[in-house]
Amino acid sequence: MVDSYDVIIVGGGVTGCSTACFLAAGAFEGSVLVVERDPSYANAPSARAAGGIRQQFSTPENIRIGLFGAEFVKNAARYLSVDGQVPELGFKERGYLILASPDKLETMQDNHAVQRQLGANIAYQSNEDLAARYPWLATEGLAGGFLGLENEGWLDPYSLLQAYRQKAIALGVTIVNDEVMTLRQHANRVSELVLRSGRSLACGVVVNAAGARDATGIAAQVGITLPIEPRKRCAFVFECREQVGPTPQLILPNGVAVRREGERYLTVVAPPPERDPPSTDFDIDYALFDDIIWPALAERIPAFEAIKLSNAHSCHYDFNTLDENVILGHVPNVDNFLIAAGFSGHGLMQSPAVGRALSELIDFGEYRTLDLTRLGYQRVLDNEPLLETNCY
Ligand SMILES: Cc1cc2nc3c(=O)[nH]c(=O)nc-3n(C[C@H](O)[C@H](O)[C@H](O)COP(=O)(O)OP(=O)(O)OC[C@H]3O[C@@H](n4cnc5c(N)ncnc54)[C@H](O)[C@@H]3O)c2cc1C
Repeated sequence: MVDSYDVIIVGGGVTGCSTACFLAAGAFEGSVLVVERDPSYANAPSARAAGGIRQQFSTPENIRIGLFGAEFVKNAARYLSVDGQVPELGFKERGYLILASPDKLETMQDNHAVQRQLGANIAYQSNEDLAARYPWLATEGLAGGFLGLENEGWLDPYSLLQAYRQKAIALGVTIVNDEVMTLRQHANRVSELVLRSGRSLACGVVVNAAGARDATGIAAQVGITLPIEPRKRCAFVFECREQVGPTPQLILPNGVAVRREGERYLTVVAPPPERDPPSTDFDIDYALFDDIIWPALAERIPAFEAIKLSNAHSCHYDFNTLDENVILGHVPNVDNFLIAAGFSGHGLMQSPAVGRALSELIDFGEYRTLDLTRLGYQRVLDNEPLLETNCY
């Protein structure tokens, strides 16, 4: 027997579940199914991300996406309540502080102008401002930094994911624990999905939200090549006898990110390209901590010269080798197949805007709120990257 759904979403991470929520909450009246193979999300970045939300980007689309991400999270009561219960997302609105090295200052000032113009409340901080605000920070050699005064910070990723799931279910979405194995095509449409359980599903529209390790394989089944690789990211938790902070989400000039989490500190860095091959293993790269993270931390925060590593975990994100931005929307020659993958470390904060955008494409055949056309697959075909400047 072949079941049928109007929309089938492959992957129930934040992207898939947000899309389901926006579809079900909006004008769309059809049936929506999310297929998720691992509801424990043990290895999904949606549950293991650092949870950061910011507007400090250079591309207007990403700034606006970040603004909506913050609005969504701060209005969880409106968007995510179920039976009057407001989910606790643990949003800490403590800002991102991105430190500027003198050679990056001009670029960051240009980005800052765009951010301000679009309504992001980001402030330049001179070295003197930084020293006054953060006495634990060594400012020598810096050219100040840029601080998010509102709408930036971090939340608990697992709570956001669960809130999306519960809301989607409450709105009538079906979420099934199974795995999409095969996509069958008829003419220029995906006509049927076959699941690991043996179930066959006819579909109106398919959304590929299968994440770092699978979005590429799912797309390849319908002849679409995605420039996306799984790249491993290691997060380290450490202790320091001397209490530093509370801190904002601090980004050092070499890209090391660190923030205080309770009595401990969480740090992560994207490895340099030569140490960042495609990867699906979960081995912790402790050398990254010793070679890159710790020296940078100790240089900028002298208290961190004496720290003790207490924990580490790793996960993969969907790295877009063309331009490190999401690939969103329709693809050529497969009329009912949409993609949202390639977030390159920004998919959690982008999930509200991306879910809303996909629901608009499905509902109306066009973007209605934010025009995200430039993030579409066409730029892959044209080999025209949409690059961020000074992005982490
Ligand atoms: C260490 C780390 C830190 C990060 N920090 C941040 C941050 O601070 N801010 C931010 O915005 N982003 C951050 N990210 C990135 C963010 O986590 C991802 O961009 C986001 O979670 C992507 O969500 P997704 O739903 O697209 O993919 P995923 O979370 O990968 O979800 C895809 C889901 O699809 C399922 N699936 C795959 N194939 C199939 C199939 N065939 N059938 C059924 N199910 C399938 C998988 O089981 C998975 O649950 C971080 C990532 C990492 C690794």
